[in-house]
Amino acid sequence: METREKIIIIGGGFAGLQLAKTLNNKNKKVIVLDRVNHHMFQPLFYQVACGRIEPSNISFPFRKIFQQSRNTQFRLTDVKSIDHANNKVITNEAEFTYDKLIIATGCKTNFFGNKELESKAFGMKNTQEAISIRNHVLMTFEKLILEKSRSDDGNWNIVIVGSGPTGVELAGAFSEMKKEILPRDYPYMNFDHLEIILVSSTEKPLAVMSPEAQEKSEKYLKELGVKFLSGEVVTDYDGDKVYLKSGKDIPSNNVIWAAGVTGNVVDGFPFENLIRNRYIVDRYNKVKGYENIYAIGDIAYMETPKYPQGHPQVANVAINQAKNLGKNFLKKNKSEWVEYEYKDQGSLATIGKHRAVVDLPFIKFQGLFAWYFWMFLHLMLILSVRNKLAIFFNWMWSYFNKDSSLRLIIAPNKKNNTQQ
Ligand SMILES: Cc1cc2nc3c(=O)[nH]c(=O)nc-3n(C[C@H](O)[C@H](O)[C@H](O)COP(=O)(O)OP(=O)(O)OC[C@H]3O[C@@H](n4cnc5c(N)ncnc54)[C@H](O)[C@@H]3O)c2cc1C
Repeated sequence: METREKIIIIGGGFAGLQLAKTLNNKNKKVIVLDRVNHHMFQPLFYQVACGRIEPSNISFPFRKIFQQSRNTQFRLTDVKSIDHANNKVITNEAEFTYDKLIIATGCKTNFFGNKELESKAFGMKNTQEAISIRNHVLMTFEKLILEKSRSDDGNWNIVIVGSGPTGVELAGAFSEMKKEILPRDYPYMNFDHLEIILVSSTEKPLAVMSPEAQEKSEKYLKELGVKFLSGEVVTDYDGDKVYLKSGKDIPSNNVIWAAGVTGNVVDGFPFENLIRNRYIVDRYNKVKGYENIYAIGDIAYMETPKYPQGHPQVANVAINQAKNLGKNFLKKNKSEWVEYEYKDQGSLATIGKHRAVVDLPFIKFQGLFAWYFWMFLHLMLILSVRNKLAIFFNWMWSYFNKDSSLRLIIAPNKKNNTQQ
């Protein structure tokens, strides 16, 4: 007879994984449910998309992570709904009962209801999508070399929508690919007319960062040859052309949508429990109206005096909410529980080699030193020594050679069971 409290965590992202780690080998039974079998380090997806690092360097199988754990189990399953009246989580394959439930399902790309955009443009919210971008962009050049006549009609342009850190980092990396790698891989093609275009609804890139970071990142993008279209809103995309609100259009077969996210909400809660598709939680991350259901990370909406509009959807918030909640769960009395508040530790973005912008609470800096700082911090955050070394090696290799050898086009192939 199981006497330990049973805790189900939906989602093994930054928040869910940290909570499982905080509860590791404690007197609780923990089951992590995720629709993919690995934890994903999203901040480096853009390097997978540009063929700079291997997906396996930033993806960590849950079964390996929990191999040594005495109280944590993992199940690969897509959660469909929650039956809170009966304390049950429902998936296609099974049902899981719980004493406490933690929702840590994060976000998905927000196409703002535009189905055409959703079906034709690429999001970058999981490893598979990052690999799909890499495959698609590389396939564009492979097709063009066969159909030479198309190379000047603009369809090969790479258009990135959204000038937050993800959009800016992607634009920088693709423009370096254009300069340093593509001419060597495709020596008979002229890449002068290939444009890397960053479409932004704001006047400056990195609108969430300091004015210094915005100014510098705009300058860096210009130096790299990225075409920055400010104050423009994408209204549609038909697979060949991107349509802008101003009436202009841009030819492109490669459109990456980095212009917003929305919560991965699980069915089973009334509408009143949500604000902007995030579960409303109190300062202990408890979902409004429920005694034993919690939400952490991107999917949680917590108002505090310091953050009256909710916390930013960043890894730091996810990790620290999970730590705080885990520690609270381990306290003997609820009266000892500690409220969560986010201590902003700053933000940063890199724009190609040798260029980065860093805003820390006490100092802001840009340029070469910021780039080293960015690399060091990301290496430190990556799980496992093997992956740190692999990434470090790849970075050094491409630094000195201005190249990488990670441009495989590997698309999953459905097994054909039909007997021929
Ligand atoms: C491209 C990109 C770059 C980023 N760069 C940075 C950065 O540089 N710095 C920074 O601080 N933040 C960055 N972020 C944001 C950061 O990644 C998120 O804030 C963080 O991942 C949130 O953690 P989370 O645990 O809430 O959600 P996630 O890490 O998204 O994890 C959610 C997990 O839930 C699983 N899941 C979802 N729905 C279900 C379901 N129904 N059933 C089962 N499993 C489910 C998913 O598979 C996933 O594993 C970036 C995000 C992206 C997409």
